Amino acid sequence: MAKPKHSKNKDGKLMHYTAGALIKRGDKYLLIDRVKPPLGFAGVAGHIDEGEDETQALKREVEEESGLKVDDYKILFEEELNWNWCSKGADSHYWYLFECDVSGEIKQNYNETKSIGWYTVDEIKKLKLEPVWEYWFKKLKII
Ligand SMILES: [Zn+2]
Repeated sequence: MAKPKHSKNKDGKLMHYTAGALIKRGDKYLLIDRVKPPLGFAGVAGHIDEGEDETQALKREVEEESGLKVDDYKILFEEELNWNWCSKGADSHYWYLFECDVSGEIKQNYNETKSIGWYTVDEIKKLKLEPVWEYWFKKLKII
C-alpha cells in the first residue's frame, strides 16, 4: 500500500491529505457503506499518496472504490477537518472535496465497501452516514 501524504497540523497532530468525490446522477448520489472505520455510508474518498496530487488521487480512488472513471471534476471545498480521524493513525485530514462527472459501470470493491449504490436525498437522510460525509452533505445543504 502506498503511504499517505502527511504533515503536522497547527496543533502538532498528524494530518493526512484526502480527496473526496461527490458523484451525482439524476437526483441520486453515489454512496458506499464503508468496511473500514470510521463506519457509515460515505461518498468515495481516500488518502492522497506521497508523490500524488489531489486530482490524481481523486481519479484513482473513484476507480478503486467504484470502478467508475472520472470524466470531469470541479473543486467544491478545500479545508482541514481536525476531528476527522482514520484507521491509519491520523487525527486530522486536509480534504479536497470534488464534484465529479463519471462514466462506466459500477464494480463493487469488496475490500473497501459492504455495498455501493445510488441514493436520493430522502434516502440519504435516513442513512447512518460517516460523520465527515454528514458534515459535507450539510455544508452543501443537500440534507
Ligand atoms: Zn488518514
